[in-house]
Amino acid sequence: ALFVACKLKIFDHLKDKGPLKAVDVAHEVGTSVCGTERLLDACAGLGLLEKTPQGYSNTDSANTYLTSDGEYSLHGYIIHSNDHLWPLFTNLESAVKEGSRQNHRAFGKKAEDLFKDYYHSQEVKQRFMAAMHSIAHLTARDVATAFDLSQFKSACDLGGCTGALAHELVQIYPNLKVTVFDLPEVIANTSYFQPSGQHTAPVTFVSGDFFKDNLPEADLYILSRVLHDWPDEKIHVLLSKISAVCKPGCGILLAEMVLDDEKKKRSTALLQSLNMLVQTEGKERSGSEYRGLLEQHGFTNVKIRLTGNLLDVILCIKT
Ligand code: SAM
Repeated sequence: ALFVACKLKIFDHLKDKGPLKAVDVAHEVGTSVCGTERLLDACAGLGLLEKTPQGYSNTDSANTYLTSDGEYSLHGYIIHSNDHLWPLFTNLESAVKEGSRQNHRAFGKKAEDLFKDYYHSQEVKQRFMAAMHSIAHLTARDVATAFDLSQFKSACDLGGCTGALAHELVQIYPNLKVTVFDLPEVIANTSYFQPSGQHTAPVTFVSGDFFKDNLPEADLYILSRVLHDWPDEKIHVLLSKISAVCKPGCGILLAEMVLDDEKKKRSTALLQSLNMLVQTEGKERSGSEYRGLLEQHGFTNVKIRLTGNLLDVILCIKT
């Protein structure tokens, strides 16, 4: 119901309007009256809309998170969930039986590398980038402030996509120079997502492949929602590359949903790990698992902060 209401832009139609009757919403959106009424009732039952005798209106949360131009709009992520993740989750049973991603079943083609699949068409790529942008904007402040990063002069956000976290970092740490490093297909499409009219230091965008190419120099390497896309073997390749260019005292900042060590408490993160199963070769990991990976590459003093938001943060320093 949430996905379809977003896809039909129901929350956009109701924004800034008085309550509307189902018949008026159906007329504006171009849908059936009986189907629209049931969808609106379901959304009201879920607490996404308010229903009064005058009609339906958005809740404050719907205005903030569900309209396409809301302050913390998750519209992009919800459309990606509807169009891409829902077909994958339909194949969860096969994913569990086979222990592998389900791209071939959901989309009827042989799976390549995860990001080659995303970036094969401009439409799918832009939808993915909009999804990452919306969810990164929601978590950026908590990620940027989980630790005091003012000791670092430069940061490189590896797989930093549209720069949502990078822009938050330069606002909070005006002396920090931030570079976003991502695949060329992504970097070529970042301009649409840049904030307008900000008086902060600009962010630099560099394209490349973090498994193969030289990494930009930085005091702090950031990996936000990157390690969970990959199996341990690939993570070792990436961490050893970072370790090779990192001087003692430099660090890595990870932003991921961190599982508890017994993998039984944080249900959102545990479900996110199923999400990784259906679409990637990666998984969510516990604090001890991340610590183990990092320590093998000389990153010690590993500190973990649970933010209460959708991403937790791990900071470690090269010794
Ligand atoms: N860091 C962003 C965030 O937290 O929202 C985006 C996370 S997204 C799940 C993973 C990002 O890694 C994508 O932007 C993708 O293009 C990038 N990426 C994947 N493989 C890469 C590679 N080999 N080299 C550079 N970037 C890569």
